[in-house]
Amino acid sequence: MSTPTDAEATGLALLARAEALARHSDSPDHYTRTWLSPAHREAARQLEAWMREAGMSVRTDGAGSVIGRYEGASPGAKALVTGSHYDSVRNGGKYDGILGILVPIACVARLHGRGERLPHAIEVVAFADEEGARFQTSFLASRAFLGRFDEALLERRDAQGVSFGEAMRAAGLDPAAIAAHPRDPATLAAYVEVHIEQGPVLLDEGLPLGVVTAIAGGTRHRVTVAGAAGHAGTVPMARRRDALAAAAEMVLAVEARAKGQPGLVGTVGMLEVRDGTGNVIPGEVSFTVDIRSGEDAVREAAEREVFAAFDAIAARRGVKVSAARNHATRATPCSPRLQDLLAGSIAAIGCPVRRLASGAGHDAMVMAEATEAAMLFVRCGAGGVSHNPAETVTAEDAGLAAAALGEFLRRFAPAA
Ligand SMILES: [Zn+2]
Repeated sequence: MSTPTDAEATGLALLARAEALARHSDSPDHYTRTWLSPAHREAARQLEAWMREAGMSVRTDGAGSVIGRYEGASPGAKALVTGSHYDSVRNGGKYDGILGILVPIACVARLHGRGERLPHAIEVVAFADEEGARFQTSFLASRAFLGRFDEALLERRDAQGVSFGEAMRAAGLDPAAIAAHPRDPATLAAYVEVHIEQGPVLLDEGLPLGVVTAIAGGTRHRVTVAGAAGHAGTVPMARRRDALAAAAEMVLAVEARAKGQPGLVGTVGMLEVRDGTGNVIPGEVSFTVDIRSGEDAVREAAEREVFAAFDAIAARRGVKVSAARNHATRATPCSPRLQDLLAGSIAAIGCPVRRLASGAGHDAMVMAEATEAAMLFVRCGAGGVSHNPAETVTAEDAGLAAAALGEFLRRFAPAA
């Protein structure tokens, strides 16, 4: 019988905690944990208990985020902040966000167990809301952490008609104080986030860990194609200006352009035929285009080419095309210095180093506005699926993530 490696033993304990935490769910049938629900508050109390057990002092901020602090050798030192979110999407996976809270707690517990203090403080932040499933927010908790709360959100209501303020008061939080104590960036040494990859790159290459180079930026457009509606039986093919046939070519143009370049993704997620009927030639079609890349220049070039292709298709088919942009975020590059430090830490525990961009958004995007930020990706099982109950991580990989982060915490020094 083989005995488990050190990494596996740590990993098994991490997965057991993820399992235990997932029981705090809004639904008895599947794992859903939305901001300030009773299950969400129970999860916060559990995280707080684990943080205390690991030797941290713990506070809860105005948005309900749980913040554990492990002092450095000299009290009041700048903090290396590490964490992720403990809310989930509806019917989500148990490791999204959670792994990035449990792994650093385990690292601090290890330091605490040895009585070891680092030159800097470590703060583990369990962000209360990142997915925004309840009030359709984005990065609510990390924004509040930095004092960047959007007051307009107080007007929002959830699907049950509960207002944002009522939800806060019911959880014992004060809506007027949600971002009243912003974190002074001068007290932050850096931010590092451990997260499951939520994609198949590491899995396909047989690698447990990855260093994130950038978090992708993206744009969303709504495109409208106007042709001419007509009788499906009487208008000869040569005379048609079919908006849907043109749109179909445009959808394929998005796919072809995105496929042609690594690190670029393009998606048409919605397509609508106005007054669509089986015996009418489509006169107007609208669809969405979502284009993302870790490099803004790559995305912008792709956008220009895709829209030029739309114009060419429209001209050839005698239809009109117009587009309106309704969402845009720039890519967030991760700190090159911290990337190298993470790469060195991964290599030091005997793992190959793979650098990759993150296609999904993370709290690190917000934290990067205030301090140096970096991310460590952990391989996802089950084809790389996430935001889904099938999401998995192996004990071995979770343990390796803890070993790599532990190494990183020790090697870290604030930027000169
Ligand atoms: Zn996440």
